[in-house]
Amino acid sequence: MFVATDNKTGALDKANRALANAGAEEIIAWALHTFGSKICLTTSFADTVLVDLVSTVEPDTAVVFLDTGFHFAETLATMRKAHARYRLNLKVIRPDHNAADVWTRGSHACCSARKVAPLDAALTHYGFEALFSGLRRADGPSRANTQPLMVDRMGRIKVNPLVGWSDDDVADYIASRELDINPLLNNGYSSIGCWPCTEPSASGRNGRWSDETKTECGLHQ
Ligand code: SF4
Repeated sequence: MFVATDNKTGALDKANRALANAGAEEIIAWALHTFGSKICLTTSFADTVLVDLVSTVEPDTAVVFLDTGFHFAETLATMRKAHARYRLNLKVIRPDHNAADVWTRGSHACCSARKVAPLDAALTHYGFEALFSGLRRADGPSRANTQPLMVDRMGRIKVNPLVGWSDDDVADYIASRELDINPLLNNGYSSIGCWPCTEPSASGRNGRWSDETKTECGLHQ
């Protein structure tokens, strides 16, 4: 059993070494065996690759979606399609009704109030100790050092089954499983977040907060 509280760094390093060459299914199986119902999946519904992989192994895995109030209609439609296909154990998390927004308070306060704080509160409320995330090294330079397992800022274990997947790996899996993807991926967007902070881009996350130095929303720190 992986023990996250004692000698966390050593335990994490050991588990990461064991999973260094593991495929996505193996990492998922390890996490479900280790954390049971104490792990959830977080997704932004850019695609449904991780939803498909995890739901195939354990259909009851909780799927957490952060509804910031600024998602593209295409993102919400992708969520609805996934919910219909997999009958997800879906938990839609929303910020306070008076949460800061990007227009009046800027992106850092907005992400903090609409992503980071609601997710932390929800994961604590539901008692999740770990979460599946779709982080990949191929997402871009800010994610180049992503490991199969990481510790998030709250001490939870973040499990990244797709860590070693290339863009082609993702595309091949989507095609082979005939998965739903966010239609914006076929309409000039390589990465999809909230509409005020996302522009079309050819690759990676270059279209996210493109007029700022910001590259991450704070969820993955
Ligand atoms: S991505 Fe933009 S709109 Fe979405 S929470 Fe962050 S700052 Fe707000």
